[in-house]
Amino acid sequence: MLLGKKFALLLTALLASAESLTDKATATVYTKCVAPNTIALTFDDGPWTYEKELSDFLTNNGVKATFFVNGDNYGCIYDATIVQSLQYTFRAGHQICSHTWSHPHLTDLNKTQTALEKVLGIKTPWLRPPYGEYNDLVRQTAYENNKSLVTWNFDSLDSDGATAAQSKGYYDSQIAKHPADLIILNHETEVNTVRQVIPYVVPKLKAAGYKLVTVAECLGGQAYSSVASFGSRDSTWKC
Ligand SMILES: [Zn+2]
Repeated sequence: MLLGKKFALLLTALLASAESLTDKATATVYTKCVAPNTIALTFDDGPWTYEKELSDFLTNNGVKATFFVNGDNYGCIYDATIVQSLQYTFRAGHQICSHTWSHPHLTDLNKTQTALEKVLGIKTPWLRPPYGEYNDLVRQTAYENNKSLVTWNFDSLDSDGATAAQSKGYYDSQIAKHPADLIILNHETEVNTVRQVIPYVVPKLKAAGYKLVTVAECLGGQAYSSVASFGSRDSTWKC
């Protein structure tokens, strides 16, 4: 996998320089799954109060999903209850990745990396840029921080005002077309997503023959670049 990833990074760099976009190496951007017949359900913008409920639903249905978390967006990643639910979700085997600290249009990568190392003991190689936005500068910065960017190729539009019925309809249309390789954007901060849309679509996606896997599995990569034990709270655990 490492060789493949390095090759992909090299290729990206070569293409970028061939196009005269930049003379610096840039991170790979993934928009869809590579492994056949897989779907990666992803949940952004947490950690938040519905996370344990969502984690349990997924676990009880044999699904592993991916949570792209912020440091200080809906909640503070160091708050005691948030730490508890994030560690719970991580222990359940869901993949945790960075979605930046405060959900800016341009990223501060290190702060969330530090928080994930303290709270979960992990270094994540995956970054989801807020709003799915990136440019050469973001890609260069991501590359220098050993990150690949992960966006999506299907959006439930749950954070853009879609009702639960509308999001379910978007999923139904996708399932009818049966694409091979979806990375799906959802938000763990939307109660309709947690309590209505996901319980409705997970059985349907499984019945359609998909394997619901983490982003790392769907991309044929490693979940984490390193894993250690959870840290202990100290005075630096604050937003
Ligand atoms: Zn977001």
